[in-house]
Amino acid sequence: MQSAAAPSTLGFQPFAGQRIAVVGLGRAGLPAAARLRDWGAKLLCWDDGEAARAAAVAAGLPVGDPAAQRGFPFDMLLLSPGIPHIRPRAHPSAVAARAAGVPVLCDADLLFRAVRASGSRARFVGITGTNGKSTTTALVHHLLLTAGMRAEVGGNLGPAALGLELLGNDGTYVLEMSSYMLERLQSLRFDVAAVLNLSPDHIDRHGDMQGYAAAKARLFDRQRPGDVAVIGMDDASGSGFAKGRAARVVPVSGAAPQPGGVWAEARALRDDQGVLADLDAAPALPGSHNAQNAAAAAAIVLALGMPRNAIAAGLHSFPGLPHRQERVGERAGILFVNDSKATNADSTERALASYDGVVWIGGGVPKQGGIDSLGPLFHRIAHGVLIGQSASDFAETLSAQGVPNEVAGTLEAAVPAALAAARRLGVKVVLLSPACASFDQFTGFDARGDRFRALVAQLPEIV
Ligand code: ADP
Repeated sequence: MQSAAAPSTLGFQPFAGQRIAVVGLGRAGLPAAARLRDWGAKLLCWDDGEAARAAAVAAGLPVGDPAAQRGFPFDMLLLSPGIPHIRPRAHPSAVAARAAGVPVLCDADLLFRAVRASGSRARFVGITGTNGKSTTTALVHHLLLTAGMRAEVGGNLGPAALGLELLGNDGTYVLEMSSYMLERLQSLRFDVAAVLNLSPDHIDRHGDMQGYAAAKARLFDRQRPGDVAVIGMDDASGSGFAKGRAARVVPVSGAAPQPGGVWAEARALRDDQGVLADLDAAPALPGSHNAQNAAAAAAIVLALGMPRNAIAAGLHSFPGLPHRQERVGERAGILFVNDSKATNADSTERALASYDGVVWIGGGVPKQGGIDSLGPLFHRIAHGVLIGQSASDFAETLSAQGVPNEVAGTLEAAVPAALAAARRLGVKVVLLSPACASFDQFTGFDARGDRFRALVAQLPEIV
């Protein structure tokens, strides 16, 4: 990022003379490379895509394939999180790096090195889990800002770590960490690390659940007794993560009391000292999953020294994130909810649990197990409208359980069909919560959600 030449970083060269191979020159990789160059690194940049390489050349970056260099002559490989370094197939640059004993890193690790090299003791918060990472990360940032604390937010939810400002001693970085990023840390120590939950996801990358859990547990690596480990206790993974931590463990839950921790009890968020906030006054945090996110966020900001009496106001004013049970419109008293971020059945389960009856729009590229695990919530689906690759499979699953449905194929067809079904059946909510990845029809969950929002906006007003 050229703007790294902000006053505090002028002449700052934390990577002077270090040889860094940068592979993956997308939205995050390209500015990261430019920033590392400004910070003194000797770079070689690469992307398998020709257009990305051309953009790097245009930005004046040295471009070449590091895997083709004899002996992989680099001190580190900065590999874009989207590019596998082990499974399902390691990228050639990662293979070459491993053979040469060169560490494969993510940009958060390099940010940490730069911050420490600047002499700053800014604190680092890392947040991971299968679901709820982005919401909790954004919420922690929002809480800190409402309390007048200096903080930068980014990582997996964007902006990328190397796009963030350098902060001084009073600053806090709030980073959403994907399991892919966690596997690529060497230096970063989190003052506060939070794991929310764990359910099957990304198994193609991690081999099995054990591998996935091990990647998540790396969030706690290098933590010391003065640090804090916030651990979600609402699924079976929690007690495992809590064991053997060097840091102080703070358990959190959206459902059950956690002595020594933070939890929600009938929508009252509390800790051992008493009530922190009424979650019913936080419109962007519906459902018990969000109660868990709120509990984790509160535990994190308390660990950072935020005054407890400032927490309620921050939770209540949280605007929420797009594509997570986002209310995008209303027609004829029917609410349209965009939960496009629900790319697995577990996420869709949370959304279905939040409403008594819905017309459900789902489908896309299914995850292992499809929607079988949603069976206990099928009674909340008055009608299913199915799209994407999994449409006919999901239709079969629903029909087998007696849930009326139709295959619409595309979102364009699904939105008006869902409105018609909701009116016919007297249902008050149309919920897009696909339980699937979007890549068969969209560039990502955000493009899918944006399209849904636009389609809802195009629906005729009904009087
Ligand atoms: P992530 O960044 O981990 O993918 P998000 O905060 O973007 O998580 O939320 C994605 C979806 O996951 C939400 O729409 C919701 O359905 C579900 N979800 C959110 N928080 C939780 C949680 N704590 N436990 C289980 N599911 C959750």
